[in-house]
Amino acid sequence: MRSHHCSELRESDLGKSVKLIGWVNSARDHGGVIFIDLRDREGLTQCVFRPEESPGVAEISHSLREEDVVQVTGVVSKRLSGSENGKIPTGAIEIVAKELTIVNKADVLPFQLDKELSNEDIRMKYRYLDLRRPRMNKNIRQRSVITSAARRYLDDSGFFEIETPILSNPTPEGARDFLVPSRLNPGKYYALPQAPQQYKQLLMVAGIEKYYQIARCFRDEDLRADRQPEFTQIDLEASFVGQEDIISLVQGLLGSMFKAGLGIDLPKEFPRMTYREAMDVYGSDKPDTRYGMEITDLGEVFSGTEFKIFRSTLDGGGVVRAINAKSFAGITTGQMNRLNELAIQAGLPVKTLAFVKCEDGEFKSPLWKFFTDEEKAGLVSTLNVEEGDIVFFVAGQRESVSTILGRVRVEVAVMMELVKDSTAFNLLWVVDFPLLARDEDSGDWVAVHHPFTRPHPEDSELLEKGDYANVRAVAYDVVLNGYELGGGSIRIHEKDLQARMFEVLGVTPEEQQIKFAHILDAFRFGAPPHGGLALGLDRIAMLVAGEDSIREVIAFPKNNKGSDLMAQSPCEIGIKELREVYVQSTFKKKVEESGVS
Ligand code: ASP
Repeated sequence: MRSHHCSELRESDLGKSVKLIGWVNSARDHGGVIFIDLRDREGLTQCVFRPEESPGVAEISHSLREEDVVQVTGVVSKRLSGSENGKIPTGAIEIVAKELTIVNKADVLPFQLDKELSNEDIRMKYRYLDLRRPRMNKNIRQRSVITSAARRYLDDSGFFEIETPILSNPTPEGARDFLVPSRLNPGKYYALPQAPQQYKQLLMVAGIEKYYQIARCFRDEDLRADRQPEFTQIDLEASFVGQEDIISLVQGLLGSMFKAGLGIDLPKEFPRMTYREAMDVYGSDKPDTRYGMEITDLGEVFSGTEFKIFRSTLDGGGVVRAINAKSFAGITTGQMNRLNELAIQAGLPVKTLAFVKCEDGEFKSPLWKFFTDEEKAGLVSTLNVEEGDIVFFVAGQRESVSTILGRVRVEVAVMMELVKDSTAFNLLWVVDFPLLARDEDSGDWVAVHHPFTRPHPEDSELLEKGDYANVRAVAYDVVLNGYELGGGSIRIHEKDLQARMFEVLGVTPEEQQIKFAHILDAFRFGAPPHGGLALGLDRIAMLVAGEDSIREVIAFPKNNKGSDLMAQSPCEIGIKELREVYVQSTFKKKVEESGVS
């Protein structure tokens, strides 16, 4: 239907007869001469309808409205001198129309496409219109570009692209499963995969050696700006590899994606940090290193303190730590309240964060009077406190102090707009994650990554001794500017070790047989050593696009209630359909069996 795209024609095409098709981006009447900007996926071209050249066509053009779909045939002509548009690549030319077909008229739109719209619900209801806007067009295109780059890189590195089932069984990735009743197997359910973890490991047992998949994953979690109930991972796995192999592969992979998406060269090697360091210094396992404000230990400064709270904390094996928010002593009361709220949410056991600020040459703090001169001097020099600074302290157990100060650090950076216009891409690896952690509610041991993660070889004794809290995993995350881009691990490939790990996690031998027989069985038949990782494609696309929500890079996302406002999904299901999948009878049967009311 076209000879060219709307981005293509230049002065070198003058005199050519061309045919364009697309949407009327805008229409203007200049004393009876109609000008339109015709838009297609690639760009804009100005078309002019002059009564003296083709009277009939000019007549019809008067009825053109925004977003009508039209086909224009005409001649590429030079724009009048002074009326060129330097902002678009086709700005030196225009099409003098000879023919015009109105292919499809558009109703008045629910919103203007050339204005940013703050009402996200309207955008989502008419997502197909929202996606016509240049910003969204750019995001969707960039996502496609980085996805192809990833495919090319992995294809070139010898990986096979393999699809794994969407209808499968519950997967222990730590979130809730989406369940799908099976009509053909009354009372039985599929679960949508939280990740293709076990399938990709089974592909290694199958001798595939290098697998990847642009995999849709489903997790029924509470939603945030960087979470969706269904999201996409670049999932990969390889045999006969160690951590270094995966790290170097992924550095190259991300490098190729950022090069394709933004034209920038990422460093060949990303810095590394242990989990311990990340938590101690940044209070997060996904530290944003674009700014300092590192957490500093004040154990030495206060080693002899008689200030009660610090004394009892230190004597009880806890820590006193602080961050110095440079030049933030002018913090408003509203901001202070917000920080206190956040700190409490993060676990601060008291109502307010302790602070010391230095203003007009004086140190101001409710605590100041409790410190000795030596402690004051130690504090000032350890944290390099200068005029205009404010220091926030927390005393307590190491993990919890880290978490609280980590949250405060990030929020202060937002308040101070430290990264507002940052163009930095601070990538890093966090390695040596703990293998196990206690579930806060039940107190049970749970896998920090997932149950297939390999314990660190240096820590096997600790595992044997039952010192679970100190066993590290061969697990690694790749982090960018405070976002976890992806994570993975080297896996267990031995049946006995896998069974032992399930045992530690409280999965009984009977349950292991029900839920994991396939993988335990597979490990009996010559499973190769293997490992892998998954990258969150949505998050990468978001960061490449410079957006702060993954909804901006997903064509049809869900809102924060998990709804698609355009398709009105999820929807009610009729009684007939429910009956067909035996939902109620299964539920009744289960209730009877378990005796739960
Ligand atoms: N399946 C893991 C996840 O989704 C990634 C991996 O270990 O490869 O987080």
